[in-house]
Order: sequence, then structure tokens, then C-alpha cells
Amino acid sequence: MTTAMITHPACLNHVTPDGHPEQVARLQVVLDALSDIPLERLSAPMAADDDLKRCHPQSYIDRLRAALPSSGSRQLDADTHMSPGSLEAAYRAAGAVLLAVDKVLNGDVKNAFAAIRPPGHHAEQEIPMGFCLFGNVAIAAKYALDHHGLRRVAIVDFDVHHGNGTQALCEDDPRILTITSQQMPLWPGTGDPVDTGEFDNVLNIALPPASGSDVFHKVYEEQVFPRLMAFAPELLIISAGFDAHRDDPLAQLEFETEDFAWVTHRLCDIAEASCNGRVVSALEGGYNLDALAASAAAHVSVLEERGR
Ligand SMILES: [Zn+2]
Repeated sequence: MTTAMITHPACLNHVTPDGHPEQVARLQVVLDALSDIPLERLSAPMAADDDLKRCHPQSYIDRLRAALPSSGSRQLDADTHMSPGSLEAAYRAAGAVLLAVDKVLNGDVKNAFAAIRPPGHHAEQEIPMGFCLFGNVAIAAKYALDHHGLRRVAIVDFDVHHGNGTQALCEDDPRILTITSQQMPLWPGTGDPVDTGEFDNVLNIALPPASGSDVFHKVYEEQVFPRLMAFAPELLIISAGFDAHRDDPLAQLEFETEDFAWVTHRLCDIAEASCNGRVVSALEGGYNLDALAASAAAHVSVLEERGR
């Protein structure tokens, strides 16, 4: 057994305006940081529209296609832009997570990391949002249920921002448990702990600014891991955003690089107990390039160690 790393050069062709935090260099530094880790490296296919449509209506896909600029940049909202390469990048990003699910559930690899952009956890059914076009992780969760016949999939999102898109796309399906921890207050402002989902299948955790490592560990040990164990997922999907790092310019949670290794180990522990270690992880945020590279390397190094 081993760990797959799935990416595609097209994800570097989603170009945001100068000074935008979600920049091409993010993926470049992640790929560089992973270059010495022994991984099964795979090329991301394009997601099929039928797979995207478990989360987004065809009219939304058509709207993105119509918005694609032939040159330059088109602004979809205050934060979200498309360049000529953005639609293929988004199809490859979703496709990477779908291939990760296939590889893990077919038993070809124990776990997998999708090194992708644009990220996905803010995209709602018909709303591109927060740098995101397609809900990559939600699309993969529904594919694992419908295509592979799983009964329970858990998503854990430790990005510093609320995974509002993932929650919106998944909370109507009691087969999916969505757990998302976020700094509060912080954009997008949703993710209050009283919001537990239609089927009590959402766990929102609000962390005050400057929480730091100790609070992170305590909250995950007391709330996240027991909830996950009780749910007993057949696949664990991670929305791996690294913008809770103390050096990140967009937030103030003040986690350390080592915290991402720790949480990865603990999530792998639960996956071992629950589903033979089956973990799929997908890149979300992380906007200080050095912190992003180091944190992603720490995360994937643990996946590789646990995937042996
Ligand atoms: Zn984020």
C-alpha cells in the first residue's frame, strides 16, 4: 500500500489577478515541497458533468462556461475570478478528488492527497464563492456514496474558514457527516455551532482568534474525534486548508506547522479503526507560501507514513 498524490498542470493555469492571495505560486510551492516524498504520482482527469451534477445543477455549470473569459480575468464576486484556464483547472481539481476516491476505495492505495486549485469548500450549489468554483470535496463524498455504494462518509475541514459550501452541498444527505472548524468571527461569517444540519449531521466548531495549538488539540480530542468514531465512516475525506497557520495573512488562529502533522496522525488513527485507514485529502486554503509549503509537506508526510 502507498499514498497517491494527484494533480494536473492545468491547475496552474487558473490565474488570479496580481496580489490575489489564491495565486498560482501556492500550488507550485506545494508541489515543490512534496517532491522528495515517495508518492504514487497521478494525473488528474477532468470530472464528468454527471459527477459535478450531484452537487451543482447543469445551469450553474453552463453559467461558469459562459463566464469563461477568452483573455484576461473575469470577476465573479468580490474574491472569485476566472481566467481562460480556470474552467479546466476546476474540472481537474474535482477530477483529482474523484480519482483519489477511486484509488483508495479500489484498494490501490491506502490514502491520497489531491494537490489542486481552485479550492472548493466555499462553492455552493449555484454560487461560486471565496476563490471556489466547484465543491470538490462534496462532489467526491457523494460519488463515494452513489458510485461506490458506501453508506457513511465523513468530511473533516480544518481550513480556518467555515466550509459553508461543503455544508450546503452535503447537509441534506444523512449519509454524510460534515465537521468543520473555523475561526469566528471571520469571513464568511457562517458556521455557528448551533447550526447542526438538517439531520444532525453537521458539527460546526467556532474557535476564537489566537486559539493556538492547545485549544486546537483540546477541541478536536473532545469533540471531533469522538463524533467521528461514533459515526464510523467508511471513508474519511479531509478539506486540508492550512490558513490556520500562525503566519497566514488571512486569519489569526496561530496554529503551528506541527499541528497539521498531529491532526493528520489522529485522523489516520480514526480511519484505521473505522475504515482500514481510507483517507482522501484535498488542498483548500493556505496563503503564506512558506507556511503553506511546510504545512502541506507535514500533512502529506504523515499520510505517506501511515499509508505504508
Ligand atoms: Zn480558508
